[in-house]
Amino acid sequence: MAKQEDLFKNVVSHAKEYGFIFPSSEVYDGLSAVYDYAQNGVELKKNIREYWWKSMVQMNENIVGLDAAILMHPTTWKASGHVDAFNDPLIDNKDSKKRYRADVLVEDHAEKIHQKAQKEIDKAKARFGDAFNEQEFVTTNARVIEYLAKEKEIRERLGRSLGNGDLADVKALIEELEIADPETGSKNWTEVKQFNLMFGTKLGASAENAMDLYLRPETAQGIFVNFLNVQKSGRMKVPFGIAQTGKAFRNEIVARQFIFRMREFEQMEMQFFVRPGEEMKSYEYWKETRLKWHLSLGLGKENYRFHDHEKLAHYANAAADIEFNFPFGFKELEGIHSRTDFDLKAHEEYSGRKLQYFDPELNENYVPYVVETSVGLDRMFLAVFATSLKEETLEDGSTRTVLKLPAVLAPTKAAVLPLVKKDGLPEVSRKIIEDLKWDFNVAYDEKDAVGRRYRRQDALGTPFCITVDHQTLEDETVTIRHRDTMKQDRVKITELKGIIENEVSMKNWLMKM
Ligand code: ATP
Repeated sequence: MAKQEDLFKNVVSHAKEYGFIFPSSEVYDGLSAVYDYAQNGVELKKNIREYWWKSMVQMNENIVGLDAAILMHPTTWKASGHVDAFNDPLIDNKDSKKRYRADVLVEDHAEKIHQKAQKEIDKAKARFGDAFNEQEFVTTNARVIEYLAKEKEIRERLGRSLGNGDLADVKALIEELEIADPETGSKNWTEVKQFNLMFGTKLGASAENAMDLYLRPETAQGIFVNFLNVQKSGRMKVPFGIAQTGKAFRNEIVARQFIFRMREFEQMEMQFFVRPGEEMKSYEYWKETRLKWHLSLGLGKENYRFHDHEKLAHYANAAADIEFNFPFGFKELEGIHSRTDFDLKAHEEYSGRKLQYFDPELNENYVPYVVETSVGLDRMFLAVFATSLKEETLEDGSTRTVLKLPAVLAPTKAAVLPLVKKDGLPEVSRKIIEDLKWDFNVAYDEKDAVGRRYRRQDALGTPFCITVDHQTLEDETVTIRHRDTMKQDRVKITELKGIIENEVSMKNWLMKM
């Protein structure tokens, strides 16, 4: 555990030191759970966004883009259920003054009991080897039965109390289970209160006639309310999709995991509209397709898993998360939801307008069903960044820090380094940059010994270093060094573009899907 925490600390400090992510308004000591993307971070983030956009919009004839406003008519959030139901139950510890999500405290407690059962199962598995029958063990071993029954009882009671809005019972459950503040051990709790996660704001010049608005807590509703506009103006035929990336805002109760849980974040969402009854086929297709997209980046198959939801949101008839192995364990990276016709029907009801599609093949009108894929851009950034950051011990015993970003996402594709700052080498380097910058982000660096410059580019994740030396003046060749292998090749200047292109082109990476 300690090692994981260290790794995570390294990620946060590397992101700051090398100009990827800064705390927001740091001169005023920052703003909790709000971050700024710095000169390299903004490039990495833009590349992830583009990688997603290309795979969704450019590569699919029946998916188009949209960029809806952050501010929307307030009735939108009444219709979507966010005004009434986008709540988290919170509880404060009176001694430590720390705030928690009451449901998470109970769920974590249930998970600990589950882990105890799992430990018994693992022990038995090790003892019996191939002869082990897990199914039989789980249904006959008294301890395991007891643990799993307890876990089930807790989860069911929590689900019931939350479903009925019985917050007093959630508090009673916390007390009965003797759940303590994870940081201090105190059991001195306040009552449980509902807390709406939407940020409110006002529109209008004077206080009397100002209109109460919300900053959108998800981008999806901008797509739903534009569904018919896009369908008609684009002459789209069901099935078709609308993709969008943009900011969303949530006043998260607990936000202590860097850019994993922010109060202002970015989503990349796609809503796919299908005929009623065809949603499960589409749901399975998008689950598989989205996982393939993630795997194409080469961060390791073992770092992803599906988590199918048992308890479904009010609008869904099937839902799964793609979880990623973050430095603090497996957590949600992307959600894939079959949202039925809930949202479009709700907007029909609240707006009094029809949001239906005339299907010429069936010769009938219907409200389409929707399958949504929703991935957090910042969580993608964290997944890519944290997994790529490596400390390596080299053959000579020295160490290097290297950010092994997928080359397609790297902020800078190549750095051009004159071996020395004289003899015309800087001029030749500049000429190479002039040529390459039309196609790639390239950097120039002449400061310090070349070995140190290599290390700096390694830490920034730059896939190639191009070194200009005296031989370059004679035969127009340079050395090109590969970040991951540190192998150097001598190549002609005219070959550089092709070599870089081959490793960074989105086409080559997306073709791995
Ligand atoms: P969680 O259970 O972690 O709170 P969620 O289920 O509420 O997430 P969704 O509403 O399904 O999340 O949002 C879709 C995606 O948006 C998530 O998979 C995640 O990647 C991203 N996301 C949600 N909340 C945040 C946040 N506070 N900060 C950063 N990304 C977020």
